Amino acid sequence: MNIRFYNARILTMEEPLSIINGELHVSGNTISYVGTSAQAPKDDKFDREIDCKWNLLMPGFKDAHTHSAMTLMRSYADDMPLQDWLNQMIFPVEAKMGAEENIYFTKLAVMEYLTSGITAAMEMYLDPYAIQLAFSECGFRNVQVSGINKFGPSLEEMEKRYIELNKKDDLSSYMLGFHAEYTCEKGLLEDIAAMANKYKAPVFAHISETKKEVEECKGRYGVSPIELLDQMGMFNYGGGGYHLVHVSDEDIEIIKKRKMYVVTNPASNLKLASGIAPIKRYLDEKIPVAIGTDGPASNNCLDMFREMFLVTGLSKVREEDAACCDAIDVLKMATVNGAEAMGLEDCKYLTKGSKADLIMIDLSKPNMQPLHNIPKNIVYAGSKLNVALTMINGKVLYEDGQFNIGIDQEELYAKCNDLFKKIYGAAN
Ligand SMILES: [Zn+2]
Repeated sequence: MNIRFYNARILTMEEPLSIINGELHVSGNTISYVGTSAQAPKDDKFDREIDCKWNLLMPGFKDAHTHSAMTLMRSYADDMPLQDWLNQMIFPVEAKMGAEENIYFTKLAVMEYLTSGITAAMEMYLDPYAIQLAFSECGFRNVQVSGINKFGPSLEEMEKRYIELNKKDDLSSYMLGFHAEYTCEKGLLEDIAAMANKYKAPVFAHISETKKEVEECKGRYGVSPIELLDQMGMFNYGGGGYHLVHVSDEDIEIIKKRKMYVVTNPASNLKLASGIAPIKRYLDEKIPVAIGTDGPASNNCLDMFREMFLVTGLSKVREEDAACCDAIDVLKMATVNGAEAMGLEDCKYLTKGSKADLIMIDLSKPNMQPLHNIPKNIVYAGSKLNVALTMINGKVLYEDGQFNIGIDQEELYAKCNDLFKKIYGAAN
């Protein structure tokens, strides 16, 4: 399908940031023109022409760390310490989840991503084949990361998934990873590092999320999680860490040397009282930071606007410096850096030849006025209410509050509630 967006303000996210007044053309799944109306090709034929009414087109947000199907456990286990939360509440429910739960609760998450302008997610969860199917049926771009740990799957199964799920379709890819140092035996971590070196592949995992995690790792091995993993050669081909809240100077040197990404998850870190990540330090050291929502059991929502505000607000409080962590840096984290961390180089800008993964921000809402500085409005004042349209791979999946993901909204809610009752054995 060929689509023309006209009367648009366009923030391509290319440096230096500027806003183009003009139009953007989509041919199939690719952006074929971005520029002024005067210079636009006149002989292109379109299936649809969308009057943007001078609202803003920009790249979709990239959620660089999530566990989508944890929508099942939204507001089920709250106000508890991390280890109790995981062991007493989350793991027992996860043990009961099958393919059906993974599919429907992932689709529920997709609906929420779309309302928040999120066009791709870096996913780590239970049943990657079911999850891939769910994302794919919705038309949602996804990068799954292995969450292998001492409870499963086997290393052979992880390798099989790495090979098979990278060939599924052009919306899906699969990266090497593991849950966390504290859920893996040393031998397993060494085997994962060997596999990363075999495939020359980056590796992602939860790392240094809590003080307790770091202290226990030091108790076991005498070094921090980052140091331990680096000694094994885990990050010889890059990768990154989710959270990275509690890091030493030595850890930071390793993160820089290995060109790792920091994926920060501020809402989850707040709710689980894990701490505030040293984002200013990462920015000063030129370490790329991306943003993830983490799962909806620890957040509890999938909202990039809230995460962006928390990244900058928490950094300012942590450093006692209102000038640190500029909103423009944060907008870059939520778009360009996320795309780079996820290996989605062709989804990071709105430029000719890029994949058509974009959103329209409604500037006519009161919270976007006046238009002194649109990027800062988005980070400091923006909300899901401003997302008028979300397009992925050239398809409009969400527009004016309506979803186009191959399943009826009410039908999906009913199915999720049925599955929820089955799992909990409760009559809600
Ligand atoms: Zn997580």
